[in-house]
Amino acid sequence: MSDSTAALYRQLPAIDKLLQLDEVQTLVIESGHHWVTEQLRDMQQQAREFIQQYEQLPAWHADWVTELTKRHNRLQESAIKPVFNLTGTVLHTNLGRAVMAQSAVEAVNKVMSSPVTLEYSLDGATRGHRDRALADLFCQLTGAEDACIVNNNAAAVLLLLATVAQGKQVIVSRGELVEIGGAFRVPDVMAQAGCQLVEVGTTNRTHLRDYVNAINEHTALLMKVHTSNYSIEGFTAEVEGAELAELGKQYQLPTAIDLGSGSMIDMTAYGLPAEPMPQTYLSQGIDLVSISGDKLLGGPQAGIILGKKKWIEAIQKHPLKRALRADKMTLAALEATLKLYCTPEKLVTELPTLRWLTRSADEIKARAQRLIVPLQAFYGDKFVVEIEPCLSQIGSGSLPVDRLPSYAVTFAPFDGRGNTLALLMARWRHSTQPVIGRLKEGKLWLDLRCLDDEHALLQVLLS
Ligand SMILES: *Cc1c(COP(=O)(O)O)cnc(C)c1O
Repeated sequence: MSDSTAALYRQLPAIDKLLQLDEVQTLVIESGHHWVTEQLRDMQQQAREFIQQYEQLPAWHADWVTELTKRHNRLQESAIKPVFNLTGTVLHTNLGRAVMAQSAVEAVNKVMSSPVTLEYSLDGATRGHRDRALADLFCQLTGAEDACIVNNNAAAVLLLLATVAQGKQVIVSRGELVEIGGAFRVPDVMAQAGCQLVEVGTTNRTHLRDYVNAINEHTALLMKVHTSNYSIEGFTAEVEGAELAELGKQYQLPTAIDLGSGSMIDMTAYGLPAEPMPQTYLSQGIDLVSISGDKLLGGPQAGIILGKKKWIEAIQKHPLKRALRADKMTLAALEATLKLYCTPEKLVTELPTLRWLTRSADEIKARAQRLIVPLQAFYGDKFVVEIEPCLSQIGSGSLPVDRLPSYAVTFAPFDGRGNTLALLMARWRHSTQPVIGRLKEGKLWLDLRCLDDEHALLQVLLS
């Protein structure tokens, strides 16, 4: 070791000395002696490595307490934090899908902070299971005979298949072997549930006779999967729910539909693209329908199986149910969400998902016009800041071809460099409430469809 390196090492403060400082003691009270000493040791190690490599002290050596405080603040920050979703995708899986109604937030708060009647009946009657109250609400809303609630729709499909068709064959159309983002693939779920997938028809056309020809003594289930994230157009044919239900009756085989997004209201009444509803299939005689809780339903992450009592009872008793069941917070949020559906008039104002989906382009444009002046004043030296029409997406298993007209504030760098945009994005990503936009055509787009608090956004963007 050279003399100069040794001299640099000697300048590093001793941990004992640092621990005696008042500011450091405050951090010890907040985060514990163990954490603080560990951080100081780590900082010392980093400083030594820096000296070895560059023959000088790191910049933060000037103020060890500030560096330690920075590390402490990072520790306090949550890894899951609120952001502004200005991506233009309303149900964004990476941003947590549906945002909950206020009543759902309050319901979760209550069940988190107190013991609750999750599996306890106050009138002395034995309660079969934790889904009971919610199942009744679902039955009332969809006409199902019974319901089962689990962790998510993937779990719902797995449990449904394992109960109804384990060790047997399930017939599905080739055109419906869906992959949903995040590794949900129908063939894989079949395999995990111990079922043998029997593909029938072709990619673009499947007929009733294809199902009929595949039925044999090993068949346990006729199934349809809603092609929620793609569409096959042109020369196509699929077997409708009513036909499949009829076929099931004829051969005494159960029928099921994995619906995914599963809106429970007629979306076209709100000027939105049509989405199949579970109640339609149930009334057509399909035995079991599965839907997600956090897509168009606008509730918490959950999977719901709706259908015939006989099958739901078997599903509730399957050992996998215990592993896949929903927790009390999910059930509370889902119950509060469903109660809004009992008063449909309230849905548009109280359910954020529906409020954002139905927000008109004019309203969004007016919002953009209020924001553009301060944004131009702040960013105008480096960027062309403009209001431009764009198209929002519903997201999370709704047809990607269905777009909603919207408006965005766009930022195009004068220097035309991608790096300038990348820096801007990075800066917004690291603000107190990160702002998430979309890069397209050499510009940064902030689609204002899902923005509720303009003031809060300006505070972040103008700081
Ligand atoms: C979204 C979706 C799933 C997966 O549901 P999760 O709630 O994300 O587990 C399964 N099937 C279909 C058709 C879907 O749209």
